[in-house]
Amino acid sequence: MASRTRPDPRPKTDGTPIPAKPCPICGKPATAAARPFCSPRCREVDLHRWLTGAYAVPVVEEDGGEESGEA
Ligand SMILES: [Zn+2]
Repeated sequence: MASRTRPDPRPKTDGTPIPAKPCPICGKPATAAARPFCSPRCREVDLHRWLTGAYAVPVVEEDGGEESGEA
């Protein structure tokens, strides 16, 4: 197998701390404990949004179109 090192998704910086992404919920700097959120609370808020359908992905039913009742 390839014995290469794992690619680092984050760019290498020379001693400069990589700024944490802001919490998508409130915009505060994310913490390691609750990334990518600033706190477990915001994580729950995000989860709740998912559950309530705020982030609902539009369902496109294009494949499996067996109903072609058109002559
Ligand atoms: Zn937050």
